[in-house]
Amino acid sequence: MEDKFDCTCGHPISFRKKITVSIACTSCRNLYCLTNNTFLKISTLRPVVEDVSPLKIHTEGKSESKEFSITGRQQIIYSSSYRNLWSATYTNGEHFQIGESYGTYSILNELSIEASPAKFRNLKVGKELQIAPKHFFYVNGIYEMKSITAEGDLPTPVILQPQCITIELSNNKFESLIINIYGDNDIKISSGRFLNFEDFSFKNTRNLNGWI
Ligand SMILES: [Zn+2]
Repeated sequence: MEDKFDCTCGHPISFRKKITVSIACTSCRNLYCLTNNTFLKISTLRPVVEDVSPLKIHTEGKSESKEFSITGRQQIIYSSSYRNLWSATYTNGEHFQIGESYGTYSILNELSIEASPAKFRNLKVGKELQIAPKHFFYVNGIYEMKSITAEGDLPTPVILQPQCITIELSNNKFESLIINIYGDNDIKISSGRFLNFEDFSFKNTRNLNGWI
């Protein structure tokens, strides 16, 4: 079910009831987040950086035989790299993220676990992390976020905390783990698996003729 409100710039914004948590105005890039059942403006975002991604808002695809469509993305810029986190929603309203970085793709789901950032602060590239019996990951990279922006309709909050360290891990089972440490205390962990672009059966992708 869709609903609407007007941005301060006058542009109408449509959101999905009980799904949308953050939404950016396509006209002025004001970012609104759901707070006490109302969308409050929390920032004005900078434009996303052109990265020649084949994905866009309204790209559709299939995962485990279920159809989904992309409604928005967060773009995280590190000092010498970037990551897109595309928000995708299945037709039943469940959602997940597609991580995209330099042509690698993963399906990511946020884990609801309580963990102390102290447990991860000493990790270094190449180090091993055990998250369960016989379940290991290795650190591929540790990145300091420089900026974050977003576009579209997101079923997750956009965390504009200026300090964020991302620890990226993987293992030989094509599993992915992303640990984001915000400031001193907040931590969010997403787990998932790497897939090939073709595995998503994407439709309605960008026409990149002339770009690549
Ligand atoms: Zn606006």
